[in-house]
Amino acid sequence: MKRFYIRTLGCQMNMHDSDRVHELLCDAGMSPVDAPELADLVVVNTCSVREKAESKLDSELGKLRKLKTSRKGAMVLVVAGCVAKQRGQAMLDRMPFVDVVLGPDNLMSLPRLATAAAMGAPPTVATDWDVDQPTFLRSRASNEGLRPSAFVSISKGCNERCSYCIVPSTRGPERHRPASEIVDEIQELVSFGALEVILLGQTVNGYQDPTGELGARPSHALSDFGALLQRIARDVPRLARLRYTSPHPRYFDPSVIEAHRQLEVLCAHVHMPVQSGSDRMLKRMIRRHDRAEYLEAIRQLRRARPGLTVSTDLIVGFPTETDDDFEQTLSLMQEVPFLGVYAFKYSPRPGTAALRLGDDVPDSLKAERLARVFDLSERCMQQHLEGLVGTSQRVLIEEPNARGDGGVSGHTDRNEIVHVEPSGGLRVGDGIVPLRIVRAYKHSLVGELDRTDATVKNNLRYRLAVVSGEP
Ligand code: SF4
Repeated sequence: MKRFYIRTLGCQMNMHDSDRVHELLCDAGMSPVDAPELADLVVVNTCSVREKAESKLDSELGKLRKLKTSRKGAMVLVVAGCVAKQRGQAMLDRMPFVDVVLGPDNLMSLPRLATAAAMGAPPTVATDWDVDQPTFLRSRASNEGLRPSAFVSISKGCNERCSYCIVPSTRGPERHRPASEIVDEIQELVSFGALEVILLGQTVNGYQDPTGELGARPSHALSDFGALLQRIARDVPRLARLRYTSPHPRYFDPSVIEAHRQLEVLCAHVHMPVQSGSDRMLKRMIRRHDRAEYLEAIRQLRRARPGLTVSTDLIVGFPTETDDDFEQTLSLMQEVPFLGVYAFKYSPRPGTAALRLGDDVPDSLKAERLARVFDLSERCMQQHLEGLVGTSQRVLIEEPNARGDGGVSGHTDRNEIVHVEPSGGLRVGDGIVPLRIVRAYKHSLVGELDRTDATVKNNLRYRLAVVSGEP
């Protein structure tokens, strides 16, 4: 086997896992290709959080089955991730054309199992959690292809039991990575040119250092997360931006708030899922926080870091959601207001507690509520973005734009998306660049190099100027 193709469905955790799989396969001597038709090995990294993602997977696998047949079986097909864990042997029974079914904790075995399959080994299922000796896939930093913004996993699994969520049964109980390993990986990424790191965990701010190395936490701290943020800031001074996702409102203890007050490296944006603005719904969702606690966490964060923006996840049409419950969600959206809402229609998931609540909100009503959420979210976002036209913003240039015409895109510290036209002459690798905002779209901004900024006037390399605090 020489060439591989990875298809990723789902969340940032899956994107992170796929990046690590990419590196494992390159280390095994294989090269990536852009289409499954060109590949000897196809890996589908799956998501089961929503019904839609799972249906998409089934249709995707149908197409891959045809492709494999047309190539007379000369292709290894691996299904990895949450659906693999959830279905296990049942997936092989239903889809015998799949060669390897691999859970999220078994990705390290992928090169070995795929090679065995290519040599004629029978189909395999490997979906055990590594509860006794947790391992974390570490990025293989190198100058080649390193993105300016990198994910670093700090924990996996989840001990919460939100009633709609399948993650605890696909990713297992919470396990945490030693702080020294996390800091070490970030140092390495930064030494190869990463400017931003996004810490990943299902309830990322509930982090507990398994070695106890972060020292006795202050009595008011619920977790070691505040101490971890301080440690990263201290030990990786050249890191320009630090973000984390996704936090749970319960774990914004004073040590985390204090980190936002003290650490400039921490970005002025938090993605904090709320799911509903109604306490009745939050209780049924077993979120273990109420609306007031959620708003209080935001108030404290904004007191610590004025201007901090918040984005969120919302579910509409959760079982028994009334018009009044839904209006409370809209009112919460106005009260915060959010810079970005990822909203979904509720879909019942196998093995979750919410299944016994039924699914009594008609799909047409879910669709109507979802449209109202998007409409309000866009209005809040547009008002916010229009207020930035004419200002100068520091933007991390992260990727070529989606049009592929030579323009680039990136984010501000508050997570606003900014595009630069091809005529702007910027490229990925330029780092954090001062841009004058010239236009606001519905969800993003357009910027041009701010020639009045001292770093530009003095012709300094932008990224060095920003990281070292010059001029
Ligand atoms: S906190 Fe709730 S929604 Fe998030 S992964 Fe855990 S159980 Fe799922």
